Amino acid sequence: MARILIVEDEPDIVLSLQEDLRRQGYQTEVATDGEQALQLGRDGVWDLILLDVMLPKMDGFDVCSELRRAGVATPIILLTARAQEAEKELGLDSGADDYVTKPFSLRELRARIRAQLRRTSRNNEQTCRFGDCEVDFDRAQLLRSGQPVDITPQELRLLGVFLRNRGRVLSRDQLIEAAWGHGMAITDRAVDTHVFNLRKKIETVPSEPKLLIGVRGLGYRFET
Ligand code: CA
Repeated sequence: MARILIVEDEPDIVLSLQEDLRRQGYQTEVATDGEQALQLGRDGVWDLILLDVMLPKMDGFDVCSELRRAGVATPIILLTARAQEAEKELGLDSGADDYVTKPFSLRELRARIRAQLRRTSRNNEQTCRFGDCEVDFDRAQLLRSGQPVDITPQELRLLGVFLRNRGRVLSRDQLIEAAWGHGMAITDRAVDTHVFNLRKKIETVPSEPKLLIGVRGLGYRFET
């Protein structure tokens, strides 16, 4: 289930977006000003961010460039009342992937969302190589030097989260949220156990990891 962060300060739009996106099977959370958006965008693990441009505290363009500067590579769709400005900003360096002009139709927005999610899943998932490993997410298969390795669906989900966020330190809370689901009662120790098991499957020397690196006091990072 894809996780979408909705950044919008108009309650009516928030309500209709939330309702529609949930009906499409997406998991959603909402930020209602620029600062909150920056914080949630940076700390959370999202598959897509819908970002209103006119926001209290900090505008959407600035939020977008700050997120990119912080290494967040999540697709961002701007919601803007000013198409020309959005075009200009997209061409510059705010780093958004697409924009939709207000007032927009939900149908149009859904199509744009699907297009972005397809694009990233093509880039990041299906098959993915690192070290001597190859993961095929469609077939739920891990190959090591061409040989199949047993991997559980949960380990595969966790690996997917790491691969989509290469180079980023992910806290145990972020990993639980993204790989198990919001509000799941998973302990930090259970996360560590899964990482430990994953290392045995992907690392050359599991006790000296070169891919799945532990970052003391913070969490884990998948080396790029
Ligand atoms: Ca607004």
